[in-house]
Amino acid sequence: MIYTENDIRKAIEAYLKRNGFETFDLQCALFDMDGVLFNSMPYHASSWNKAMKDFGMNLPEYEAFLHEGRTGEATINIVMQREWGRTATEKELKDIYARKSIYFDQCPTAKPIDGAKQLVTKMREDGMLATIVTGSGQKSLLGKIQNYYDDLFCLDRMVTAFDVKYGKPNPEPYLIGLKKMNVQPNQAIVVENAPLGVEAGHAASVFTVAVNTGPIDGSALIESGADLLFSSMAEFIEHWDMFFNVAKSFRQI
Ligand code: CA
Repeated sequence: MIYTENDIRKAIEAYLKRNGFETFDLQCALFDMDGVLFNSMPYHASSWNKAMKDFGMNLPEYEAFLHEGRTGEATINIVMQREWGRTATEKELKDIYARKSIYFDQCPTAKPIDGAKQLVTKMREDGMLATIVTGSGQKSLLGKIQNYYDDLFCLDRMVTAFDVKYGKPNPEPYLIGLKKMNVQPNQAIVVENAPLGVEAGHAASVFTVAVNTGPIDGSALIESGADLLFSSMAEFIEHWDMFFNVAKSFRQI
């Protein structure tokens, strides 16, 4: 969407009011990974589809997009509950996720999302820190962050599948991210592309910016609680200076 300075001011005021905060002291950005930093979601969706088929279950690729952001375990349990009326055993969780990872690793390397590096670079130039909060445990992709994004992210304070118990849409991953970055919710923004991820950022009381990089309808991101919605990274970048300047005006009462 195209926002005016006044739209952005109103969005920040609504966020502060909703959470009972008086100031917005922007210091860091918490980035989701799949669909925000890498265009990996189509590969995740096809890998899930094939792995589930191998184990006799049906998970259409489109549905996989709707589960985006969940942990692998949560996704497997939802599908198995639907298909077989029960949750998965520890062995099944391990085997199915391992199979999905094998298929994912066979996919071409996911390309970075256009503009993502430029956006993080702008944030860093404005004195902000950035880290990654992802439900992913895909070592193949996690290992590529530095190749593409240099030292833009605090990788030692990243949150991955290995840190969380519940995963998105629970606020837990973002709450852990805030803790690792040593900031309060009103000192950060979340950048997300999926409804469940937006829900998690919103529930963690962080100002959540949705960037719709995939096939879903943008209204789903607003309904999940996005404070701002952009249809591409380019659109977010176009608004960045204005957003940052308006945000700065909320640093002190
Ligand atoms: Ca995502």
